[in-house]
Amino acid sequence: MRIVLVGPPGAGKGTQAARLSERLDAPHISTGDIFRENMKNETDLGKEAQRYVDAGDLVPDEVTVKMVKDRLAQPDAQGGFLLDGFPRNAAQARELEDVLSELNQRLDAVLVFEVDDEELVKRLTSRGRSDDTEETIRHRQQVYRSETEPLIEHYRDIAVRVDAVGSVEEITDRAMDALADEPDD
Ligand code: ADP
Repeated sequence: MRIVLVGPPGAGKGTQAARLSERLDAPHISTGDIFRENMKNETDLGKEAQRYVDAGDLVPDEVTVKMVKDRLAQPDAQGGFLLDGFPRNAAQARELEDVLSELNQRLDAVLVFEVDDEELVKRLTSRGRSDDTEETIRHRQQVYRSETEPLIEHYRDIAVRVDAVGSVEEITDRAMDALADEPDD
């Protein structure tokens, strides 16, 4: 299956994507993880991304899109994938559609993780990642609301909502149920 995960910072997409990746036997592709790995290893890509990630801004599309295209071209992604953190705006969504249509592929589902704001701040401030200061969290939430959330409407035909408050296991089960309910067309 070709799946996109959407949800505000702190919704637990990464945790769920890793678990769904095992259950569905499809690679978990997280743009945030790829950026962090490159920043840790001080690659050119990492150096380019660093200031945007630290500020809670989106890394410029040309950088992000190229990185995702390269990743989706890898052999392990040919049978399906779980895309976590991409697309994050309308331009990225268009690029993804172009890439997939060139390969005669299309998305099967968009999983939308829903968590209320109060719970989000609670989760993020206890996570302790370097870009998880109160100020950047707030900024990332604004970026999510203005840039990413409108994609849910764009994907309305294949979007399925998942209540992402509960135990990790419960949420995985809900996501699997939501995927099973999603009709093919
Ligand atoms: P979160 O969803 O908790 O904000 P992520 O790990 O998904 O965290 O992303 C961390 C940071 O990586 C973002 O704040 C942004 O700077 C960068 N990033 C991740 N995905 C994208 C993307 N698709 N486009 C631009 N920047 C991105």
